[in-house]
Amino acid sequence: MMDICFRNARVVDPGRQLDCRADVAVANGKILEVAGSIAGRAAQEVDASDCLLLPGLADIHAHVGGESVAPLSLPVDEAGLLRGVTLLGDAGTAGPRNLERLLAVLDGARTPVAVFLNVHEDGIAVLPQDWQGGLRIEAVREALDRHAGRICGLKAMLSGAFAARVGLEGLKALKQLAAQRELPLMLHLGAEPDEPLPDGWERFCAELPAILDAGDILSHCYTAKPGGLITPDRRFYPQLRDAVRRGVALDTAVALRHFDFARARQGLDDGFVPRTISTDLTRNNWHRCVFDLPETMSRFLALGMPLPEVAACVTVAPRLLLRRPAVEIRAGERAELTLLREHHGPCRFGEEGHSLSGEYRLSPEGVVWEGRYVPAAERTARPR
Ligand SMILES: [Zn+2]
Repeated sequence: MMDICFRNARVVDPGRQLDCRADVAVANGKILEVAGSIAGRAAQEVDASDCLLLPGLADIHAHVGGESVAPLSLPVDEAGLLRGVTLLGDAGTAGPRNLERLLAVLDGARTPVAVFLNVHEDGIAVLPQDWQGGLRIEAVREALDRHAGRICGLKAMLSGAFAARVGLEGLKALKQLAAQRELPLMLHLGAEPDEPLPDGWERFCAELPAILDAGDILSHCYTAKPGGLITPDRRFYPQLRDAVRRGVALDTAVALRHFDFARARQGLDDGFVPRTISTDLTRNNWHRCVFDLPETMSRFLALGMPLPEVAACVTVAPRLLLRRPAVEIRAGERAELTLLREHHGPCRFGEEGHSLSGEYRLSPEGVVWEGRYVPAAERTARPR
């Protein structure tokens, strides 16, 4: 007996190089059948004619845990299952000081979350521009000791003032600690407009990629802010090419102003393609501009990236970096699926002065999680 049957969906599974129209049946939490047309009726029939069906989406860069962890951070499931995402990466919402509070919240949430520990004690409970003090690597080491197995990586937010205090030597020490614990290092790049730029800034940005290894992550890869991956004369730092070849991952983490459409287009043209497409979702941007991961995927489709590549950036790639098992749309596999609605017609991505027009966008429709179909939450504001 089928519990759920999706009818006539465009099934896109980048792990299997699958892109076809099919019915997909789910029973007892597993995929029962994937076929052109499945006979019989399920307890829940879903017309997916105007939809894409993908393996459960993973957003490697969001901020969750709710306001008890940090003022900007979102309720877990509202950034996760209720927005089409079945695996979240929390990108350093908590540092050693508020890590326990975050872990306690995650224990009560439905969406699984892989946690990057912020190397600054406060995480984003205090805005990085207002952080006091430098890097206390001992506090990071102690937090890793206390919660071994629950941390999937380290996050360093190298905006102006903190980057100056950490310096290349501090960054090398962090990288050494991450390597000892076999954890990836995720770096936030780009200074805020009101932040002073440290001396030797350009040298810092140019030399930083050489410190990183395969599996390390450069977030906000298309920021136009100083301190990103773009030189003042608007080229990607040449040192980046070698890092990408070694397997360092470029992560979009778009947020409100950590993303520039022109830089993204330049990156795609120059071969600096994203490994992961992520939102950097916070309370600042979930009702405007960013909205959710499917909206963020739509930006890259509008920039000309083919759908199977975009799909890989939100499924196979983030799961590999987060070291979570792959999810496939195949009979016999655990059913972890995301249904996205397709909208055809003129639309705009981003906000006034920082926008791109397109003809096609995706929105979350629902997920299959633990054998049930969970519809996406209604958006309180809608993209234009
Ligand atoms: Zn972030």
